[in-house]
Amino acid sequence: DNANLYAQLRAHFPERLDDTAIETADAPAHDGHPFAPLHYTWRDLERGSARIANLFADLALPAGAHVLVHADKSVEAVMLYLATLRAGLVYVPLNGAYQASEVEYFVENAQPALVVCAPRNFAWISRIAFARGTRTVLTLGDDRSGSLLERAAQMGDEFDTVPRAAGDVAAIIYTSGTTGRSKGAQLTHGNLFANADTLHRFWQWREGSDRDVLIHALPIFHIHGLFVALHGALRAGARLIWFHHFNPLATIARLPDATMFMGVPTLYVRMLAQPALNAEACRTMRLFVSGSAPLLADTFAAWRERTGHTILERYGMSETAMITSNPYRPESARLPGTVGPALPGVRIRVHGDQGRACATGEIGGIEVQGPSVFAGYWQMPEKTREEFTADGWFRTGDVGHVDANGVLTLIGRSKDLIISGGFNVYPAEIEGRINDLPGIAESAVVGVPHPDFGEAVVAVVVARSGATPVPADVIAELRSTIAHFKVPKHVRVVDALPRNAMGKVQKKLLREELAALFE
Ligand code: ATP
Ligand code: MG
Repeated sequence: DNANLYAQLRAHFPERLDDTAIETADAPAHDGHPFAPLHYTWRDLERGSARIANLFADLALPAGAHVLVHADKSVEAVMLYLATLRAGLVYVPLNGAYQASEVEYFVENAQPALVVCAPRNFAWISRIAFARGTRTVLTLGDDRSGSLLERAAQMGDEFDTVPRAAGDVAAIIYTSGTTGRSKGAQLTHGNLFANADTLHRFWQWREGSDRDVLIHALPIFHIHGLFVALHGALRAGARLIWFHHFNPLATIARLPDATMFMGVPTLYVRMLAQPALNAEACRTMRLFVSGSAPLLADTFAAWRERTGHTILERYGMSETAMITSNPYRPESARLPGTVGPALPGVRIRVHGDQGRACATGEIGGIEVQGPSVFAGYWQMPEKTREEFTADGWFRTGDVGHVDANGVLTLIGRSKDLIISGGFNVYPAEIEGRINDLPGIAESAVVGVPHPDFGEAVVAVVVARSGATPVPADVIAELRSTIAHFKVPKHVRVVDALPRNAMGKVQKKLLREELAALFE
């Protein structure tokens, strides 16, 4: 039995390989032609990935070589991913928005034998790659152009998927870099299939004639779009409606053809801003999943009110794949502001100071154990050792508490914890209070260096449309409800919080901008 992730997923492809696996719903960004939907069958995925895997064999890449991909989202990039698995190589996707200084770091760190990039970026990326020992650079455009497919087209369309053990590395996923430099998390074939299989059962994916139809509107360089969404569909033999780019109106227009949607919170917020979003548009939908960043209770409530559906929030990270999920049934057990209990087979615990275990409801660091926990950071043995406890639990770096039913509530990251005048301040608590004030849409609370307090609490707030919150009023309101050491010393009103491609608030940037505030 071959533990190669592709072989494991392939075993669940539908019997009728000529059924549509992926249907495109918008034009790729770099395709000048008028949009016409493309239908890729299961056989197309099988043959397309075989041709690319044969090309890899032809290139005689060393066993376990890294294939670094800096490309635009396309179905052919999915084939490239599947081909990498089939050939027993290691897939290393990067955010296609990364620029030269970033790509330099990743190429230097990952030491890829092969780099694939968009044709328009070939000049600068190949210069970076060749200078660092990469032997081959191929191109892949989102309009099916480029040397990768040109060369793969000459290859045979059958390929025997290379046998891999469950413990062999399948992919290196670089973390989002929210708290510091991105780290390369090595995920094994076993890690990824275990998680896909667990979610398959937990979210009750539908197979066969009743198969699910998932709207895929997420990037595919991150675990959310590449693993949770794509593996989910492949494991179930479900169909994908494929958006190269998220567009709220276009997505809403396709909801009546779908049963599932996965998004980061920003996608839900942007759909809610469209009057076209209503219960009628969602009549065929079975499940809406949110993750990658906290879903505001407001968004959760507004979605339920407008569509009649309850968003299911789950929690995971590059190093562990999915850890917890709100329940599938009953919908009423999906609780706003929580990420649910540990998934089957996964265990979580909460750690306080000095390695002491926290009591029920007590706040501490979240640690995890389970079949999807990664095989360590690539080329960072020190960091890997630091992030595992002596008894083998992974320290997530997230802070939260677990109730008597095992339900986890996240309240932030340990690196975002503020210590002001010797007191711990949890930003999420203050953000929750601020978001409840009239006229405020959302907020981010950070610690800024302060001569007396060490760190001072500072709030950055975004107004609701039409409102003009006054910083002094926000401070006065908070002073009457929470301890004074928690009250922001400064409130700044901004148009929008800085977010990355996954909708994560970049507190690092806010801290940098505000660093000199109290100098
Ligand atoms: P880095 O590790 O480089 O600082 P990162 O942790 O943001 O970046 P990812 O692995 O992409 O990189 O993201 C995982 C993190 O995303 C989790 O540790 C958690 O903080 C956050 N996250 C994921 N899902 C949720 C959720 N449902 N609610 C709140 N936070 C979430
Ligand atoms: Mg992280």
